[in-house]
Amino acid sequence: MKNDYMIKFGVSGNSNSFYEDGFSSTIDAAKWCKSKGLDLYEYSFGRGIKMRDQTAVEIGNEFKLYNIEMSVHAPYYINFANSDPQKIQNSLMYVINSLEKAKFLQAPRVVFHTASQGKMSREEAFNLTKLNIMLLMEKIAEKGYTDFILCPETMGKVGQIGTVEEIIEICNMAPYFYPCVDFGHINARERGILNTKKDYQLIIDKLLDNLPSQKVKYMHIHFSKIEYGERGEIRHLTFEDKKYGPEFEPLAEVLYKNTLQPHILSESDGTQAEDAMEMKKIYMKMLSK
Ligand SMILES: [Zn+2]
Repeated sequence: MKNDYMIKFGVSGNSNSFYEDGFSSTIDAAKWCKSKGLDLYEYSFGRGIKMRDQTAVEIGNEFKLYNIEMSVHAPYYINFANSDPQKIQNSLMYVINSLEKAKFLQAPRVVFHTASQGKMSREEAFNLTKLNIMLLMEKIAEKGYTDFILCPETMGKVGQIGTVEEIIEICNMAPYFYPCVDFGHINARERGILNTKKDYQLIIDKLLDNLPSQKVKYMHIHFSKIEYGERGEIRHLTFEDKKYGPEFEPLAEVLYKNTLQPHILSESDGTQAEDAMEMKKIYMKMLSK
């Protein structure tokens, strides 16, 4: 493959097939992912950070050995639009502790959800989010974590902070903020806007017009089909779904056309590995045309 078009594909967490193959611990996922032809693995601390440092070092070494690049997902409880100072301290710690574990895992990227709107107006919630993200930037500098890439994510529920525009604004606050563009979330939040190449290109153009090109070229992508309703995201689906979408094929063409080299993680419900392999297959097939 021409280097200009290299895209890495991988899984968020362990898929059902990993367990069906008789494995239960993440340290075995490195070799397993390699055997599937995958390049990336995202470890989720979504429900809390419970991993011991020593375990993180061992897992990190194993993934290094198999050349599978790790990333970390910070806890879901982060909310930088909270007016309670104690809750803000907690949110800061969730990100900082994720970065610390990422260091032991040798994971260069940490993905995080920024905030929920709650009962505030959108403007009030977003301004508070940015104010507290400035506190986060101070903490990151203090701890010497500025070499990591931190990826604020576009979100699927209407009540969450994380439209494409909001994520662009946050990414412009520091050189180490790169977007985590979750196309399933965008499609769910806007109830089915991603259908054609043109639809995807509009999102890419918005990013390219407003961010340094490196941040778009090497952005983080979450991709899965997601069921949605009036308030946006309801649940993650698998590639078996034919109703909600979005479809990966048009995105593959748009990524190629714009010579983007993102990290793409499948967040399918249980079929992450199969769906990541499917995306890689679609992309490679398109390259060979
Ligand atoms: Zn996420």
